[in-house]
Amino acid sequence: MTEPNPTTNPEAVQSFSFKAETKQLLNILIHSLYKEREVFLRELLSNASDALNRLRFEMLTSQDVLDPEAELAIRIQVDKDQRKISIQDSGIGMTREEIIEHLGTIAESGARKFIQASQDKNADFSQIIGQFGVGFYSVFMAADWVRVTSRSYRPDAEAVSWYATGDDTYQVSAAEMAERGTKIEIQLKEDAAEFAEEFRIQNVIHRHSDYIGFPIYIGEAKEAVNKRTSLWRTSKSELSEEQYQDFYRQTTLDWEEPLTRIHFVTDAPVQIYALLYIPAKAERGMFALRKEDGLKLYSRNILIDEYNKDLLPEYLRFVQGVVDSEDLPLNVARETVQASGLMPRLKKVLTGQVLKELESLVKNSPEKYEAFWQEFGGYLKQGVASDMVEGEKLHDLLRFRTNLHTETWSGLADYSGRMKEGQKEIYYIVGEDSRSVLRSPHLDTFREQGMEVLLLTEPMDSFLLMGLRKYKDFELKNVAQAEVSAEQEPAQENEIERIADADFTTLIERFKEVLGERVTDVRASKRLSQSLARLVDPEGALNPELQRVYKYLGKEYEIPKKILELNPSHSLLKSLLKPETDAALRSVIIEQIFDNALLVEGLHPDPSGLAERMQQIMEAALAAKA
Ligand code: ADP
Ligand code: MG
Repeated sequence: MTEPNPTTNPEAVQSFSFKAETKQLLNILIHSLYKEREVFLRELLSNASDALNRLRFEMLTSQDVLDPEAELAIRIQVDKDQRKISIQDSGIGMTREEIIEHLGTIAESGARKFIQASQDKNADFSQIIGQFGVGFYSVFMAADWVRVTSRSYRPDAEAVSWYATGDDTYQVSAAEMAERGTKIEIQLKEDAAEFAEEFRIQNVIHRHSDYIGFPIYIGEAKEAVNKRTSLWRTSKSELSEEQYQDFYRQTTLDWEEPLTRIHFVTDAPVQIYALLYIPAKAERGMFALRKEDGLKLYSRNILIDEYNKDLLPEYLRFVQGVVDSEDLPLNVARETVQASGLMPRLKKVLTGQVLKELESLVKNSPEKYEAFWQEFGGYLKQGVASDMVEGEKLHDLLRFRTNLHTETWSGLADYSGRMKEGQKEIYYIVGEDSRSVLRSPHLDTFREQGMEVLLLTEPMDSFLLMGLRKYKDFELKNVAQAEVSAEQEPAQENEIERIADADFTTLIERFKEVLGERVTDVRASKRLSQSLARLVDPEGALNPELQRVYKYLGKEYEIPKKILELNPSHSLLKSLLKPETDAALRSVIIEQIFDNALLVEGLHPDPSGLAERMQQIMEAALAAKA
C-alpha cells in the first residue's frame, strides 16, 4: 500500500505546523487573562464583512460566481448546551491554497509585530489584535478548538476545512459544503461560555459591529441585530456625538478624539455623501487600523476602494473617512472609475469642503486651529509649495512665528495688518531654529526699527517660499538679501564712532588676506548696528531658500561663496586695528569672526573644529591680562 498523497487525495487530513512566531502569538493569546476577549467576535465579524465586500466587488464584474442569488449576510448560531458557536458568511470564501496561506502561513510578520506590541505592560489586546493582520487568531482567546469550513465563490472550487486547537499544528482536509462562503465553528472554553448566549452576542455586536454593512442574523431570527446604517448616509440631526466618535474609532482604531469632522451631502455638481475626520495627531498611532493614507470610496454603499488617494490633493492626505457617491458607475472596474472624469469633480468638492472647515476653525475656534496647525501645518506648506495657483487658497491658513510675536501664531493677514507706514514688503528670515535667527545680524535694522519679520525655521519653509512669493499685493522679501539694505538704513547715532575710512580699508585688506578664496568680497556694511559681521549673497546668487532646498534634497551641493560685511562701528574691529595687536592673534581672530558668521547662518561645515581655535584665543586673552 502506498502512502496517501494528501494533495491529490481529498479524503486525507493534512497536518501543518505553525511558524515559530505564530506559535508564540497563539501562546500569548491562549494564556492571556484577558477581560475584553469579546473582541474575538468583532474580529471574526469584520473578516466576514471583508469577505462579503470582496464578493460584492467581484460580482460587479463577473457573473461567474457560485450561488449568485444567495443573500449577502452573516449568520450566527449558538448551542448553549454544547458551548458552541458558529459564524457563517456568504462571502468570497477560500480555496484550499488560500486557507493555508491566510490562516496558516502569512501572518508571520504581523505576529512578530503583535508580540512586540503585546509586551508593553499597558498594551490592550482589544485595541491591537486587529492591527497586524492577525485578528483571526484572537478566536483562541475564547476557543478550545476552531474549525473553519469554506467554499470559494469560484464555481469549480471545492470545500475545504481547517482545524486547530491552538497548539503547534493545524489540519486541513476536504469538506462537505454546498453553499458559498465561510463558516467558523468554535468550541468555547469553559470560562467563555457566555458567548454561547444570544443576548451576550447581541451586546457585543451593538458595541463593536453595528456599522457592518451586511445583516447579521442570530439563530432563526429574520431581523438583523445590527443597525447596518451607513453613518455617512444618515442625516446629521439623527446622529449623536457618540455615534460619530464610535464610527471614527471603529474605522481607524485611533482612540484619541479627532480634531474635527466634516459630514456633508451634496447633489450638484456631483452627488456625494461624505464623512471626513481630521485626526488629532499627524502621526498614525502604532495601532492605527488604517495602514495607508486615503479615503474609503463607496459607490452606492459598496466599498470599491479602501485607500483612495485621488479624492483629495496630496497635501490633505491626513484626512480620514468615507466618500460615497451615487454618480460612480457601479458595474465597472476600478480603472474605469478613474477614467470616468468623475474623480476630479469629486476631488474639487471634497477639497473645497475640507478647506472650508479649516477656515471655519480659524474663525470660530482659533485654539483648535492652532492645534491643527501644530500638527498639520507642514502639510499645508507643502500644498503651497507644490501648487502656486491652487496653493493661493491656503495663504490665509498659514501661520508663522515672528520676531515680535515669538510665542503666538500670526497669519499673513495679521502681519500685513501690523505693517509700518509705507512698508510694502513682507519680511522673513530663514534659518535653523528660532533662537539663532533671532540673534541673526540680518535682523539688526529690523530690530532697531521695530519691524516685524517672519521666522522661517523649518525645512519645509524653504519649499514653502518657492510657492509663496506674494501675499495679496505684498511681495515676500528675505532680510538677508543685499538689496533690502538701501531703503532702511539704521539710525546712525553712533556715526561718530565709525572707524576712519582709511583704517577700515586697511582692515578689509587684512580680512581678505586671511580669508582669501573663502569669501567673494569683504566690505563695510550699511545694515549692521549691534552685530559685528554678516554674510550676504553676491548679486545674482541663487536665493537663500533655494540654497537650502538643494541642501535638504541632499544634492552634492556647495553653498556658494558669500560676501563678508563688517560693522564699521564695532568696538572689536577697532581693537583689532590697534598697532599693539599681535599679528598672529589678529589672523586667528579674523578666522573666528568668519566662522562665527558661518555659524549664525547655520552654514558652518565643521562646528566642532572651532574648539581648538577658541582655546588659542582664550590663552591669548589670559596672557594679555597677566
Ligand atoms: P486581516 O483581516 O487583517 O487580513 P485576519 O487574521 O483577521 O487578518 O484574517 C486573515 C485572512 O484570512 C484574511 O485576510 C482573509 O484573507 C482570510 N479570512 C479570514 N476570515 C475569512 C472569511 N470569513 N472569509 C474569507 N476569508 C477570510
Ligand atoms: Mg481581520
